[in-house]
Amino acid sequence: MFADLHLHSHFSDGTFAPEEMVARARRCGLIAVALTDHDSVEGCERMRAACAAQGLEFVPGTELTAELHGSEVHILGYYLDITHRRLLTELARFQRARQDRIREMCARLQTLNVPLEAETVFALARCNSPGRPHVARSLVAAGHCRTLDEAFERFLKRDRPAWVPKARISAREAIALIHEAGGLAVLAHPVLNHADHLIPALAAEGLDGLECFHTKHSEPDTQRYLALATQHGLLVTGGSDCHGDSKGRPLLGSIKLPYAYVEALQAARRRRARRRRPGSRAAPA
Ligand code: AMP
Ligand code: FE
Ligand code: FE
Ligand code: ZN
Repeated sequence: MFADLHLHSHFSDGTFAPEEMVARARRCGLIAVALTDHDSVEGCERMRAACAAQGLEFVPGTELTAELHGSEVHILGYYLDITHRRLLTELARFQRARQDRIREMCARLQTLNVPLEAETVFALARCNSPGRPHVARSLVAAGHCRTLDEAFERFLKRDRPAWVPKARISAREAIALIHEAGGLAVLAHPVLNHADHLIPALAAEGLDGLECFHTKHSEPDTQRYLALATQHGLLVTGGSDCHGDSKGRPLLGSIKLPYAYVEALQAARRRRARRRRPGSRAAPA
């Protein structure tokens, strides 16, 4: 009984459709999956329907780019109300910022004599939440680079000539938004953001959980995060962070989160919902 709680579809920078992801998850023997597209919940309805059809449990989610003490952190939101007004308004704002960022990256490429129109990137991305991977794929498609890695190395990585910083909200705002939409807030892949030292402050800001299991976490990393989760009273999550098949073998199936952790999330979500309901007699958790 295993889950994967970190997946990207083509509604952000993944390559799989929600239906394809669910079919693959089922073939991997997973019984629960979450969709965590960057700044988007648009794939959640289709993912929910596909899960219902294939007998998997679905957790609606998203991945927000936030900041604490000058460092970038990614905050996953789980069990979101995907019809929540303010959530949808804020996601639309983040998406517009992403589109503006693509335009700025293309303008910089232009000055480097690498002609790439933003409209070409948007046509390739065909989603409201485009990111650097779409620029990289467009550079390869146009013959400017041979591989995605080359595109990142030459142009798109931090401090490379076409790199443009991404808009980010404060971690406090990200956590508050997720809570307002009925969700649980989880710090994604702390290793990738060198975020270990931020965990106590994030816990104090109301963070609910820590992504302990992740493709980029070594076994000692995972053990360290499990200990930190216990120390700070955080829930434990995990996922592959699969982006489809853009870079060789899909990561889906590489992380198998024991289902007991999903049950702990469900219980925390119920406690939070009881606390939010006025007149509730539930004791604070
Ligand atoms: P963005 O959100 O637009 O800054 O893009 C970040 C995404 O780019 C990450 O989620 C990764 O999927 C992808 N990414 C980052 N570095 C690389 C790389 N070197 N090669 C391919 N994809 C990358
Ligand atoms: Fe991504
Ligand atoms: Fe991330
Ligand atoms: Zn991700």
